[in-house]
Amino acid sequence: MTVTDEFFMNEALLEAKKAFIAGEVPIGAVIVHSGKILARSHNLVESLQDASKHAELICLQKAAKVLENWRLLECTLYCTLEPCSMCAGAMLLFRIPRLVWGAPDMRHGANGSFVDLFSKNHPTHNIDITSGVLQEECSKILKEFFQIRRMGSEC
Ligand SMILES: [Zn+2]
Repeated sequence: MTVTDEFFMNEALLEAKKAFIAGEVPIGAVIVHSGKILARSHNLVESLQDASKHAELICLQKAAKVLENWRLLECTLYCTLEPCSMCAGAMLLFRIPRLVWGAPDMRHGANGSFVDLFSKNHPTHNIDITSGVLQEECSKILKEFFQIRRMGSEC
């Protein structure tokens, strides 16, 4: 973990906060290229009523548009939560060389918590992974969100 990783994870957390305010499960992501943020996004599952609108996937699509290239070479994806199998699969397809994630996801995490899509040596593509960056902050915002949601459903 580096100061730079913490800096960009904080940016992903800002995205998660936007999701929180919008009533979405607070998960955020940014993609960084040459030290600059190329794309940023947060979870949009509720607003678009689409279970595939995860922060990471939207971010990958945005970055490919900006670069006009689906191969996201020399990019680092920061996301506040361990990616699910859909997003982990997309990261391999988009050729992301580096992934940094914050909090583990016991239900859907595809980097060891539920399954591990990155454990095998892929023939063409392997991702360098750093996990647990700002883990406490990343899981705290999720806990708060679900606490508030549970209180709401009890009223
Ligand atoms: Zn996902």
